[in-house]
Amino acid sequence: MAVRDISVDALVVRELPHGDHDKILTLLTAEHGRISVIAKGARSVRSRILAPTRAFAYSNFELHRKGDFMWVRDASVIEAFSSLERDIETLYISQYIADVCYELSGENVPAESVLRLALNSFFALNSGRYELKKVKAAFELRAAAEAGYLPELSTCASCGATNADAVYLDVMNGSLKCSECIAKGGGAVADGEMIADAFGTRRILLPLPSGALAAMRYIAEAPLKRLLAFEISGGAAEAFFDACESYILNHLERGFSSLNQYHELEKLAKKIKTGQKNDVSTRKNDSNT
Ligand SMILES: [Zn+2]
Repeated sequence: MAVRDISVDALVVRELPHGDHDKILTLLTAEHGRISVIAKGARSVRSRILAPTRAFAYSNFELHRKGDFMWVRDASVIEAFSSLERDIETLYISQYIADVCYELSGENVPAESVLRLALNSFFALNSGRYELKKVKAAFELRAAAEAGYLPELSTCASCGATNADAVYLDVMNGSLKCSECIAKGGGAVADGEMIADAFGTRRILLPLPSGALAAMRYIAEAPLKRLLAFEISGGAAEAFFDACESYILNHLERGFSSLNQYHELEKLAKKIKTGQKNDVSTRKNDSNT
């Protein structure tokens, strides 16, 4: 049944300009899933619904159905999440989280768990207290779990070993494989690269150091409020970040321009950092001669 006039709390996951002054919004709600609405005059600086209809705002909306469309009659901010725009990395990651939520939700399909996860992630990003990549990875794995794609993380899917020395995430099958079973199956492990097993089946196997596996197991089980209450660093953190991203992208079977933009930025930052290091070492060499 199509919704008529409703009052609903919603996260703005997408905003598109429409005409000179209006916007078309996609709202994520617990009760009705995704809703497309027209916000008349919302782009005018004098509009009283300017703030509540901005991307990433969590607001209460009074919606009215007229013809085939839902219109915003009134709106008020519950949580603006205004710090998500403090830097461009945070902005891209926020957009990516919103994009994944869009993908995981449908119209007239309740989306309470996805909405709660998005809000939780936005609170964490907005606070600036957590590493960006950690929030992103925890969101990715938990979002996959909410969508019913949680990988089986307890034992090697082939031999049942619980404490194998070297474990890999079989991304496409959502399971673990120990290095012994990979070797027995005639497969070769090339870290992070697509390889084929003895039957020629394409696989993506990503190495999971014990710290990375422990973090993934934690995220699968943790209460939402404690989702980020774990520590991870160094090589385990890098492996964990890679595994969570590959896993959700593989299961959604698509990429996201917001994520690509984030990675471009990351590459650029790395380049600048390396360039600065090279500059310093060149200068050192100069002074030695
Ligand atoms: Zn095994």
